Order: sequence, then C-alpha cells, then structure tokens
Amino acid sequence: MRSVRDHQEAIHGLFGPPEAVEVAVTDALGLVTAVDVVTGVSLPGFDNSAMDGYAVLGADLAEASTEHPVTLPMAADIPAGRTDRLTLTPGTVARIMTGAPLPGGADAVVPVEQTASGPVRGRFAPVDQGPQQIRFTAPIPVGKNIRVAGSDIVAGEVAIRAGTELHAPQLGLLAAIGAGTVRVWRRPRVVVLSTGSELVAPGHRLRHGQIYESNSPMLAAAATEAGALARTVHFVPDDVDGFLTRIAEIAGEADLIVTSGGVSAGAFEVVKDALIATGGVEFAKVAMQPGMPQGCGHVTDPSGQAVPIITLPGNPVSSLVSFEVFIRPPLRTKMGLPPHRARVTARLRGSVGSPAGKRQFLRGVLERDGDGWVVDPIGPPSSHHLRYLAGANALIDVATDITALADGVDVEVLVLD
Ligand code: AMP
Ligand code: MG
Repeated sequence: MRSVRDHQEAIHGLFGPPEAVEVAVTDALGLVTAVDVVTGVSLPGFDNSAMDGYAVLGADLAEASTEHPVTLPMAADIPAGRTDRLTLTPGTVARIMTGAPLPGGADAVVPVEQTASGPVRGRFAPVDQGPQQIRFTAPIPVGKNIRVAGSDIVAGEVAIRAGTELHAPQLGLLAAIGAGTVRVWRRPRVVVLSTGSELVAPGHRLRHGQIYESNSPMLAAAATEAGALARTVHFVPDDVDGFLTRIAEIAGEADLIVTSGGVSAGAFEVVKDALIATGGVEFAKVAMQPGMPQGCGHVTDPSGQAVPIITLPGNPVSSLVSFEVFIRPPLRTKMGLPPHRARVTARLRGSVGSPAGKRQFLRGVLERDGDGWVVDPIGPPSSHHLRYLAGANALIDVATDITALADGVDVEVLVLD
C-alpha cells in the first residue's frame, strides 16, 4: 500500500506552477497578487482638508482670542470635487469641505465648530446670506487639519506586495490608486464528474436500489471554498464508453478533472476500467481510512493536451476526506494561497480504535476548552455516514502506527471551519 504522503506527492506533481492572469479588481477577491503593484499616483493626490471648516493663513489668526476675536471675510467656497486651482489672499478665508483641495497659500483649516459666522456659532451660515464674515477666537498651528499630498503613499512606491491575498482593504487600496485590473494567480477550473448506475438527480423519484447523487455538489463546493472555479457535470452510469465520452467533452475546459466512484475492487469499476485501458492514470491503494482506493494521472483533451485527473472513491465521506487530504493543498498552492488547514492539538473526549497500518481521519467536533481545545469523535468510522460528516468541524488525524487512543490523550486535529 502507498502512504498518504507518497500519494500526496504524486498528486502534487500533476499541478504545474501558478499561472498569472490580469483580472478586474472587482473580480480579484480572495486571489493572490502575482507581482508587486506599484502606484502611479500619490495618496492623497493633492493637499486637502481633513475637516469641514475654513482654510486660513495661520498668521492671520496669530492674535485671535475669545476676548479679541479676529473676523475675516470668506472669499471663496471650496466643495469636494472642485478642480480649479485657487489661491487664498492673505486676510481672507475660504470655506472648505473635507476632501476638497486646499487653496494655495492656506496653511491650516479651522473646523467650523470652532468658528462663528455672524450670529451663527459652530455651523456654516446658510449660503444665501450673502458675503460672510467669519469669527475666529484662537490661533491655529500651521498644518493643522491638512492632509498632505503623498502622506499615505507616494507615486512609484509599492502599494501591494506580490503574494498578498486580496480582501476588502487591499482591494480598496488598489481602487484608490486607480487600478482597474490586477495581476494575480488564476483560479484553476475544476470539473467534477460522479459515476454510478445507482445515482439519481434531485427531483426524481427513487426506485429501490437508487440513491440521490451527492458527491458532485459536495466536491464542487469544496473546490470553490478552496478558491477554484468549480463546476459539476451530469453524472454518468457505470459504462466505460459513456464515461470516456463525457471525459472527452469536459477535458478541454478543465485544468483538473475530479471523478468520484468506480475505483475500488468491485466488478463494475467504470473509472478504473476506462482509464486503465486508455493509460496515463495510476491506481493505488493508499494506507488511509477512509479513502483507500485512489487514482491520479492525466487524460488527453481533444487537442491532445494532457489534463490532470484525480479519481476519488465514491463513498461520500471517503471522497470529501480525500479531497481535503490530496486535492485542497495543491489546489491552493496553485493559487499562491496557504495550502494547509490550521492544525491544533486537542484533548480527545472518549476513546477510539484505529486500523493497524492505516492513517485514519476521524470526524470530530472541536471546541475551546479554557486555553486549549477538546475534540469529540462523532459517528462510526464507516464512510457512508454523511450525517456525521455534516456535523463535524474537524478531522482527527490518527497516525498510521496507532491502533487505539484512550480518553483524555492529546490528538492532532485539522480544523475544517
Ligand atoms: P463506488 O466507489 O463507486 O464503489 O461507490 C461506493 C459507495 O459510494 C456506494 O455505496 C455508492 O453508491 C456510493 N456513491 C458513489 N458515488 C456516489 C455519489 N456521487 N453520490 C452519493 N453516493 C455515491
Ligand atoms: Mg460506483
């Protein structure tokens, strides 16, 4: 039997290096920058006001006090968005709003709350009251309430380093520097194909012996959560020709094909039968539970291009655990994302057995326990128990040589959410 690690390496080898692509900033959420992004503009791009108030020449207010206010005429009105260049004449002030460009010659902004215009204190007078005189009762330090051009970032500097995962704040910065697009590692296109003559689509009545197909939506969701562009195609029955026809249809549009079912030791193992005949895929028994029968390799698309394929076992728990162990890490590496789930050491509540010679991944419910963690194994080990999979938030990773774990021992846990 092949070790988990050896099979992980075989699968890793199917993935080439990350591929850079230019995407719209609005489509870049969760992706990772492939290059440093240098800003072509400074932020702020011009000196502007940090407050709603009056742009002044500080020297004009040097003698202002409550007893001896200084009253100056308002010579201009500068809302945000005004694009002409104004100059403040000494002995006058300009009404200015937050984010509006500071007039030349002004060296401070007095917040409106600290002024009075006529009888109106602490507020702007209504605009229709004609030329206004503004009363100041204190001096103001030079530079006060001014956002200086380039004080955030200067044109030519790196705004976002290569290798940065793009989330709301980073996308905000990219937009602020005027970037419409950004160079990132692209999402691989994953196509999921389930196999099995017993499978039925939702909305249809089940006949005796049939089941609803659940692996393809589950695996596509797992691939999407990992960051890939995943889609499902309609499942195929256990028929080699039908399977190969569907593979030929999807191969041209996939960077990775993931199949489920048809790889174990039964009599109608469609995936195994079909791909052993075409070659390019190796099938192995991997020393793990769940998920022993596995396969990986390449199929060729209609243009003769090799497309990676990973063939997972059909039991729902096996297929999802296999995805976690074998597919999620290289898929994320391909996008420049951190490959691994968080791992914690937790105290086991209850005792469990584990098959000799197999690395076991048990479903568990992980909880905080003071400063540490505690994990409850849930559900029997057999791999059709989707209910317990859906109730788990962690996988307990039991090493190959361990056959029993007693209540209260420390175990290694993969955190799923
Ligand atoms: P297989 O790997 O094809 O031998 O399937 C193993 C078990 O998983 C059988 O009980 C199948 O009915 C079940 N199974 C296989 N594929 C799916 C699927 N796509 N959805 C739900 N159950 C499946
Ligand atoms: Mg099957």
